[in-house]
Amino acid sequence: MKLFSPQNRRILTYAASGILGGAAARQAAAGSFQSAHYFAMAGTAALLLPTLIRNSRCFGSVTTDFSTSRREVWVTIDDGPHPENTPEILEVLGNHGAKATFFGIGRNILQWPHLARAVISEGHQLQNHTFHHQAGTFWAALPNRVRKEIELCNSAIRQTTGVESFQFRAPVGIANPFVHAVAEQAGLQMIGWSATGLDGIPHQPERVVQKILRNVRPGAIILIHEGSLPGLRKGVRAQTLDALLRKLSENGYKAVVPSLATHGATPLLGQS
Ligand SMILES: [Zn+2]
Repeated sequence: MKLFSPQNRRILTYAASGILGGAAARQAAAGSFQSAHYFAMAGTAALLLPTLIRNSRCFGSVTTDFSTSRREVWVTIDDGPHPENTPEILEVLGNHGAKATFFGIGRNILQWPHLARAVISEGHQLQNHTFHHQAGTFWAALPNRVRKEIELCNSAIRQTTGVESFQFRAPVGIANPFVHAVAEQAGLQMIGWSATGLDGIPHQPERVVQKILRNVRPGAIILIHEGSLPGLRKGVRAQTLDALLRKLSENGYKAVVPSLATHGATPLLGQS
């Protein structure tokens, strides 16, 4: 087993937290409460920080790049489907001859099943992004809730499109150890990203594209979003994607869903 395998990283993270907790107890027993407090805080941080860091690999594998010898990138689109953007987004992808992966929210999929089916029928992928997408609290979810969120979304995708998901992206990329464990049990590969551009707030397409391009290289996983957003004019999401695909093409890049995405056929970079 590799020293820094996902399992060993998980053990090391808990061990660090436990050692610091033990030191806190010894300091408290010796009457040194200030030191005890600092050790206890450090022990808590050893567990909490890896949970709160996006795409953190302290508790398991997260794929943030794919292996390719060509100028290819993987565009991933989160938080749909949504009637405000999905039809336009599909049209833009079609115009550019690009393929993408949609990390869909289960309840949106059930609400607009025709959009979920359109994603699949146009040759894109639809994968799991939880059922409710409770981004503010999912990082603290216990195993039962994590399992329910993942299973309900899998079932929404299966029920509407007949497709079985095999990839998972945690809301805002934040996942605790239970999320990794449940995703592994469900046979879902955790997918992160290596290039994104702050499009979760009202934005100008050009600014988002500029930020994304700074981190684009062969094998990059690009994250953009769909869905409505207060203060964001209708149509901006599709314009952002259009500007992104145009710039990628000018730089010689092609947007693909890599073959690895079919149950890990190709070894991934950034996987461990
Ligand atoms: Zn999301």
